[in-house]
Amino acid sequence: MFYKTIISFVIIFFSTSISFSNDTTFNGKFVQGGIVIGQNKSAKKIFFDDNRLQISKDGYFIFGFGRNHKASSTLKIIKDSNDDVIKYNFDIEKTIYKIEKINGLPNKMVTPGPEFYKKITEDRALIKKSMNKKYIGDKFPLTFIKPTEGRISGIYGSQRILNGIKKNPHGGLDIAAPEGTPIKATSDGKVMLAAKGLYYTGNIVIIDHGYGLKSMYIHMKDININNGDLVKQGQIIGTVGSTGRSTGPHLHWNIYWNKIRVNPEMLLTISK
Ligand SMILES: [Zn+2]
Repeated sequence: MFYKTIISFVIIFFSTSISFSNDTTFNGKFVQGGIVIGQNKSAKKIFFDDNRLQISKDGYFIFGFGRNHKASSTLKIIKDSNDDVIKYNFDIEKTIYKIEKINGLPNKMVTPGPEFYKKITEDRALIKKSMNKKYIGDKFPLTFIKPTEGRISGIYGSQRILNGIKKNPHGGLDIAAPEGTPIKATSDGKVMLAAKGLYYTGNIVIIDHGYGLKSMYIHMKDININNGDLVKQGQIIGTVGSTGRSTGPHLHWNIYWNKIRVNPEMLLTISK
C-alpha cells in the first residue's frame, strides 16, 4: 500500500506541471476494483474525475475504481483560494478477472421464467430508490470489518458463464457460513433498505456510510434492524441465509462507491 502511494507520487511528479504537494495522504490501492481514503486538511472542494467528493471536517474523502476503470484518473483538490489547486494524475492498475464456467444447471436457475419479470422489475426499483438516497454522517467511516466469518466462496469481478450464457460479472464477495451465523455492519451508518423476499437477493440490507460509500448484504435469513436505523460498526444486523437466488447459505457482500461496485476485500485492506 505504501509502495503504491510512492508509485503514484512518482507518476504525478513526471506527468503534471501543476503544483506538487505532499500534504495529501492516500490509503488504498490504485487498481481496478480498488478503493482509496484520502486526507487533505486544507481541502475546500475535491473532484475525482467529474465527481465532487464529500469532505469530512478532518479533510477525509473516499474514491474508488470500478471493475473496468479506465487506465488513469484525475483528482483535483481546491484549497482555500481558488487558484491554489493540486492536481494528481493516477495510473489505475488493470486486474485480470477469473472466468467461471458452470454447465448443466437447470435452465430456470440461469434464466428466470416470465412469471417473475414483474417481481424482478419491482425489486430493482426498490433497490435503485434506496441506492439513490444519501446519508451524511458526522463521523467519517475510517475503519471497516468483515461482516461475517466463513469460507470465501466467490470473489469480486469474476465473469460467470452459466450453461454457455455470459452473465453479469460477480460484483461482490461471497462468504459461505452456516445458516444463522451473525452478520455485522462493516462500519457505522444508516439503514437505507431492510427488505425481505426479493427474487434475486432474497432478504437484503443496504447501509449508507456517507461519503458516497454503501454496503449491501444479500441472501440473509433474519434481519434484525429496520429501515432508517442508525447502526454501529460490529452491530449484528441479521444472519446468514440462502434466500433469493442462492445455492447454499452464504453472505453475498457488495460495496458501492458512488453506485459503482468496488472490491469489498480492498475495503478491508485499507483499514489496516
Ligand atoms: Zn455472490
